[in-house]
This record gives sequence, C-alpha cells and structure tokens, in this order.
Amino acid sequence: MATILDGKAHADRMLEAVRLGVEARKAKGLRAPGLAVVLVGDDPASHVYVRNKSAACAKVGITSFEHRLPADTAQADLDALIDRLNADPGVDGILVQLPLPKGLDSKRALHRISPEKDVDGFHPINQGLLLEGLPGLRPCTPSACMSLLAHHGVDLKGIRAVVLGRSEIVGKPMALMLLEQHATVTIAHSRTKDLPAVCREADLLVAAVGRPGLVEGSWLKPGAVVVDVGINRVESLSLGEQIFAAEPKKLENLKTKGAVLCGDVRFGEAMDVASAVTPVPGGVGPLTIAGLLTNALMAADRNR
Ligand code: NAD
Repeated sequence: MATILDGKAHADRMLEAVRLGVEARKAKGLRAPGLAVVLVGDDPASHVYVRNKSAACAKVGITSFEHRLPADTAQADLDALIDRLNADPGVDGILVQLPLPKGLDSKRALHRISPEKDVDGFHPINQGLLLEGLPGLRPCTPSACMSLLAHHGVDLKGIRAVVLGRSEIVGKPMALMLLEQHATVTIAHSRTKDLPAVCREADLLVAAVGRPGLVEGSWLKPGAVVVDVGINRVESLSLGEQIFAAEPKKLENLKTKGAVLCGDVRFGEAMDVASAVTPVPGGVGPLTIAGLLTNALMAADRNR
C-alpha cells in the first residue's frame, strides 16, 4: 500500500513559513507584502479561487487587494490597471486570474505585469530565468510540487521522471525543475505514442493533463512516486464506474452527490502499485496557493 503524500499538511507548513517571513519583515520595520488580484468577468470557479486566495493572504498577514472588472472590460483598461499596479509601491505581487473573458488577450496581460511582481511566474523573463536555472519567480504549482517531494525526501538525482502534459503553467516548468534536480525527464502529451509504456518507465510520474482517471494502475512502475496535478469534476456514472473500480467510496459519493472531484490518476489502483501518491482532493490543490504566497513574500523581500 502506497504512502499518501498529504498536500494539505505540506501547504500548512509552507504557509507557516510565509507567516513567519511576514512577521520577520514587520519586526524589521518593513510593511506586510501586498498582493493584487485582478478578476475580470464572472466565471464562478475564478470567484471561488480569488476568495480562497484572499482568505489565505489574511491568514499569513499578506495584504490583498482585489480588483474586479466587468466581463466587457476593454484590453486597454486592463492594461491601464496593470500599469497602475506595476507602479504602486504597496503592491509586491500581481495576479491576473485566468481564464480571461473572450475578447481579452491573456498573454498580453501576463506579459505586461512587471517581472518583479509576477507572482504566478508566467512572464517570459521569469520563464527564461527558470530555463537558465537562475533564481526568479517560478510557477506556483510545480514549485510547490518540488517542495512536497523535497519534504518527503524523494531523491530525484538520476531517476526517470515522466511529466504528462506540456502546458506553460505546469508541465513544462515542472520538467525544467526536475531536470535542475538531475532527474532524467520525459515530457509526454496528447500526441505521445504508447503512453502506458512511457509511463511504466517512470520512477516519478507527474500527471498534469486534465483527463479524469487517464492513468491506470497498470501504467505505473511498481514503487513509483505519483504526483497527480489534475483536478477533474466527474458527473457521469458510467465514467465513474470505469475509473473508481478500486475506490468504492468515491463511486458511492458520485451516486449520492451527483459529482466528485478526481485526479488524472486512478488513485485506488495507484495505491496498490506505487510507493507514494498525492490524493485529489487534498494533494497538489492546496499546495498551489501556498506556492503563490511564498512567491508574494519572495517578491516583497526582493523589491524592498
Ligand atoms: P492544459 O489543458 O493547459 O494542458 C494539458 C496538457 O495535457 C496538454 O499539454 C496536453 O498535451 C496534455 N494532454 C491532453 N490530453 C492528453 C492525453 N489524452 N494524454 C496525454 N496528454 C494529454 O492544462 P494545465 O493547465 O496544465 O492543467 C492540467 C490539469 O491540472 C487540469 O486538470 C487542471 O485543472 C489541473 N491544475 C491543477 C492545479 C492545482 O492547483 N492542483 C494547478 C494547475 C492546473
């Protein structure tokens, strides 16, 4: 039976470190870090994320500023807000919540954020620093996954790591961070041939795809460490019956509640084959906000 890598517990450790960092700044007479969150439109999931981010800021003593703009905001107005926040000395970090409503160019918005305040780590300057192996603000989800692996003593040197997914937010930066720690890294994606065989080579498998239960237990190398980044909502009973065969409780919840969250990996099957697995929910999800606030503190400490 695999060990469960508890993301919530590790997120709490990371948040406590941020809280202490904020305290240390205040003890030196410096102000609390300021994080500006820009939310455009009325995507319900984005509203929940922004609320969670503000609540987490309050817990660790980071000042958060929410800027809500209507869905029909013009790009020039979004640009102007970002410019104002870039120039505001009380703002150390700027986050533009994605996805933006149709008609707005998210790349243009992300590129406009000052790299020193780019707490999501999506600016090309920060991506370039990561590529060069230099310190910078790095994407929150993969950095927090690295922190989780380090906490659990997973030795990455020389191991075969497979990253499923090649997004700029998770897959690509995760692969670079693993490479930096001397893993031998394969990035697999939607066009990869014989995905199960590629996965079976992995001592460490990181799944960031967004397909519920894609990775079956039989795709895993015995003893592998599995980090499941995917967060998927399953509503279909027939899909649930397929992917939750080894998780009767989840199937029961699906039947009674009509929907459940799950990862890209079939957790119940993975528990029988792997040595360690992150659950969904309670794995990588809570780590991402902790990574964001870690970045906000880092940006504040670097800026002033
Ligand atoms: P994305 O849609 O940008 O990228 C998905 C990647 O998966 C693509 O590179 C694609 O090539 C690959 N892919 C798609 N179908 C595939 C298949 N059948 N086989 C192999 N590869 C396939 O997604 P993303 O933003 O990287 O997010 C991935 C998942 O992680 C989503 O479920 C998302 O909700 C979740 N996520 C979670 C957190 C968190 O905090 N835990 C943060 C970011 C993303």
